[in-house]
Amino acid sequence: MCVRSCFQSPRLQWVWRTAFLKHTQRRHQGSHRWTHLGGSTYRAVIFDMGGVLIPSPGRVAAEWEVQNRIPSGTILKALMEGGENGPWMRFMRAEITAEGFLREFGRLCSEMIVESCMEGICKPDPRIYKLCLEQLGLQPSESIFLDDLGTNLKEAARLGIHTIKRQGFAVLPKLVSNSWAQAIYPPYPPKVVNDPETAVKELEALLGFTLRVGVPNTRPVKKTMEIPKDSLQKYLKDLLGIQTTGPLELLQFDHGQSNPTYYIRLANRDLVLRKKPPGTLLPSAHAIEREFRIMKALANAGVPVPNVLDLCEDSSVIGTPFYVMEYCPGLIYKDPSLPGLEPSHRRAIYTAMNTVLCKIHSVDLQAVGLEDYGKQGDYIPRQVRTWVKQYRASETSTIPAMERLIEWLPLHLPRQQRTTVVHGDFRLDNLVFHPEEPEVLAVLDWELSTLGDPLADVAYSCLAHYLPSSFPVLRGINDCDLTQLGIPAAEEYFRMYCLQMGLPPTENWNFYMAFSFFRVAAILQGVYKRSLTGQASSTYAEQTGKLTEFVSNLAWDFAVKEGFRVFKEMPFTNPLTRSYHTWARPQSQWCPTGSRSYSSVPEASPAHTSRGGLVISPESLSPPVRELYHRLKHFMEQRVYPAEPELQSHQASAARWSPSPLIEDLKEKAKAEGLWNLFLPLEADPEKKYGAGLTNVEYAHLCELMGTSLYAPEVCNCSAPDTGNMELLVRYGTEAQKARWLIPLLEGKARSCFAMTEPQVASSDATNIEASIREEDSFYVINGHKWWITGILDPRCQLCVFMGKTDPHAPRHRQQSVLLVPMDTPGIKIIRPLTVYGLEDAPGGHGEVRFEHVRVPKENMVLGPGRGFEIAQGRLGPGRIHHCMRLIGFSERALALMKARVKSRLAFGKPLVEQGTVLADIAQSRVEIEQARLLVLRAAHLMDLAGNKAAALDIAMIKMVAPSMASRVIDRAIQAFGAAGLSSDYPLAQFFTWARALRFADGPDEVHRATVAKLELKHRI
Ligand SMILES: Cc1cc2nc3c(=O)[nH]c(=O)nc-3n(C[C@H](O)[C@H](O)[C@H](O)COP(=O)(O)OP(=O)(O)OC[C@H]3O[C@@H](n4cnc5c(N)ncnc54)[C@H](O)[C@@H]3O)c2cc1C
Repeated sequence: MCVRSCFQSPRLQWVWRTAFLKHTQRRHQGSHRWTHLGGSTYRAVIFDMGGVLIPSPGRVAAEWEVQNRIPSGTILKALMEGGENGPWMRFMRAEITAEGFLREFGRLCSEMIVESCMEGICKPDPRIYKLCLEQLGLQPSESIFLDDLGTNLKEAARLGIHTIKRQGFAVLPKLVSNSWAQAIYPPYPPKVVNDPETAVKELEALLGFTLRVGVPNTRPVKKTMEIPKDSLQKYLKDLLGIQTTGPLELLQFDHGQSNPTYYIRLANRDLVLRKKPPGTLLPSAHAIEREFRIMKALANAGVPVPNVLDLCEDSSVIGTPFYVMEYCPGLIYKDPSLPGLEPSHRRAIYTAMNTVLCKIHSVDLQAVGLEDYGKQGDYIPRQVRTWVKQYRASETSTIPAMERLIEWLPLHLPRQQRTTVVHGDFRLDNLVFHPEEPEVLAVLDWELSTLGDPLADVAYSCLAHYLPSSFPVLRGINDCDLTQLGIPAAEEYFRMYCLQMGLPPTENWNFYMAFSFFRVAAILQGVYKRSLTGQASSTYAEQTGKLTEFVSNLAWDFAVKEGFRVFKEMPFTNPLTRSYHTWARPQSQWCPTGSRSYSSVPEASPAHTSRGGLVISPESLSPPVRELYHRLKHFMEQRVYPAEPELQSHQASAARWSPSPLIEDLKEKAKAEGLWNLFLPLEADPEKKYGAGLTNVEYAHLCELMGTSLYAPEVCNCSAPDTGNMELLVRYGTEAQKARWLIPLLEGKARSCFAMTEPQVASSDATNIEASIREEDSFYVINGHKWWITGILDPRCQLCVFMGKTDPHAPRHRQQSVLLVPMDTPGIKIIRPLTVYGLEDAPGGHGEVRFEHVRVPKENMVLGPGRGFEIAQGRLGPGRIHHCMRLIGFSERALALMKARVKSRLAFGKPLVEQGTVLADIAQSRVEIEQARLLVLRAAHLMDLAGNKAAALDIAMIKMVAPSMASRVIDRAIQAFGAAGLSSDYPLAQFFTWARALRFADGPDEVHRATVAKLELKHRI
């Protein structure tokens, strides 16, 4: 026999444990000491574990109270019972142990169990009642006894205990006492009540206080939301066919902002009323008629929904149309981590959620008359269009991730979609659960329901899995240990769904997640916009709207993951057979008529036609790009290779610091042949306003070809550092900056340099940069010492993209800024040209330079102070892999020269090519080139599919591989050439010099290795 206080609940135990944890941990860790280093006198930081390091138990307790309809503050009151000498305070002072606290606290709570089996007496033996009374220290008249058996009650009553007979006592609603420590016994004669309601009322009357508290998640009706009670009462009386009623009790639910929702109690009936909001409404919005219709239909199909009673479209009753349904009592889990439940219970809750979703998606539309509930097919494309439109209508500033998604989503639509009923807002907190069983009693809030792709619902119901628990509008669980909690991970939840529905596993669920988060971002943006214009319906509106960017980044992360998935599945052998297109978009959309183009590639640039697969050979390029490739090849053979000796001798001549006239002539020819500005990736220049609009993969093949000559990149206006600087201006420059710097660079009339490296600091770590950028009136004044600035000596160099520190005290990666410095600004002093293995690389060279009080107008800042690191990362992405593409070109040319040489030269009586070591070298070089090329192409392909950030690992890998591979291949060629290989008669020595230099110039090998290792450890364990 048990005498239990109503607090005996696993949830409360959890609260206790939290409180206990707070105390014990604080004793051990709350006060930290460390060795004091500087002149500070601080010796310790003292903090409270609860609320600082772990969630405040107070908050947890408050939530538990709300969830369980317990008056707010009850738990705190219970804990503090006994004041200074109560168990809690003694526990806080460490006078008793945790076990001691629980024991005493339990006693205070009258948590007392009298076990019949242990005592050897059981009901109706009066001794058991006496024992209870004795242990409680009560008189019989002070207690109430509830039971369902008359014989048990009779004996108790004989002793003078007040008794209440309750049949099926197990379903008595949770009783809540406002005196938390009472055990309740009944007196004689036994009162017989047949339903829990009457039993509770009886108890309330005896105790003199209310046992039940208000309906969860409700509050008094807001002034602005009041509805006429009299006419409503009259309507309900007619509807329910009741004659006499008491007063109508009306409360408003906290949620249901869009369609106001009310709780009604009338004549023992618990009802819910949902109405349209007041005022002028958009025709398709707030369609409560649809909600009524779908719930009615779904109830017939066995889907758990509240029982709808009537739809009243007559606005004269309460001012707007509304419908009435029965109130469905049960639990609504607002916190998706389901605090206080056992892991198995949590799992069962999520499984039940999944099952009910399957049930919704299995409804036979025809059988329930819902075939016309929405358009059939094309749900996702329509949704994408709708939400893009909604987002655009409420856009307040450009959010890069949203822009990317707006392009990406329409290009990745699922090929096949089923059509079922979709809920549209299927979340855990829209479900009413049985209080004790993991069973969904009702699915609420059908406002967004329609016919559509069911996978959108599945993805939407997993949003919480990817949001943090602190997310203000939609609490998440991404920072929880799901395994420990027993909650299925999103992937498992998806699998569970497919299994239950008898579907094959959903491969592209990342698409659905990206779409779901995109949709949430669009909604949040709308709320934010309304908050700015003062029409927001929620006090959290402003805060929630600002979360748009966060959520859109989450959506983009899924787009990236989908890119990887597609990439991994692509057949590498026959890339053109894949019809999957990442960027497939009608040409007309990219090229508004009349837009200026700085690329001489004909208008019908074919980029989009070959974007799908990884194109590993030029012959697999789309026909127009293939044609471009062959045109370039022809140009190289006809114009560039033959010009090399003259260009080389110019570089060795006294006139070397002036550009070669031959180069200028070749540039004009390249431009005329449409071989100009091919480098700018389509992703950075989607309208092909500035470049040829090639993908990184397409450019990789062309760039490799240019790389076979040291001069071709400049001839085609595709050489470093201009390419990186032009891309920087396209991506981040203002229109004025573009007009001043980008256009002359694109036209090949100017050149530029990038100044970051400094002699006095290890510049492979760009945070070491010391050059200062100081504000002075409307100028920035720069001072610093730079070296290895490629191209700064060129008389055509008009722009120096300068990296320095604006704020040495800001966080490490926010100290740097990028300024556009005109080269004719006073104070730029070139100290000397540096040489690489003795080569000057004229006319651009690599200069050592001082910047002394160089004054630059403030508008020359790129993006803004503190954004330098971000810009440098963006600049060096594609720019760096261009070097790798060219290194493959160096290597191919070196191997070609080597093969020709060893075939024609005899040693020891036979051609060199017949020497086994030479053959081995040739084979080795071929293998290494192919390996590196595949890696370059893979990196380029990933950049096309998933973006530069997602391709970071592949970019680092190829930067690590390409320069040393080229050095080895070129070195073998030099060796096969004999001494001639070291001379300037062949390009080999210069190739070798460059390949070696690129093991620094592009960032030292070790830094790339460190990146690869870091990413490997982060992503692949
Ligand atoms: C031909 C050429 C052209 C260049 N052009 C430009 C230009 O236009 N603009 C510009 O700003 N700079 C340019 N540079 C400079 C180049 O970017 C730097 O040399 C490079 O960033 C390395 O910096 P550092 O020379 O200061 O070497 P340091 O930073 O001093 O590094 C020295 C060595 O330390 C080791 N090391 C560094 N980090 C790590 C690590 N994480 N793990 C293990 N070992 C490590 C490496 O072996 C590295 O080589 C050019 C360099 C060359 C050779």
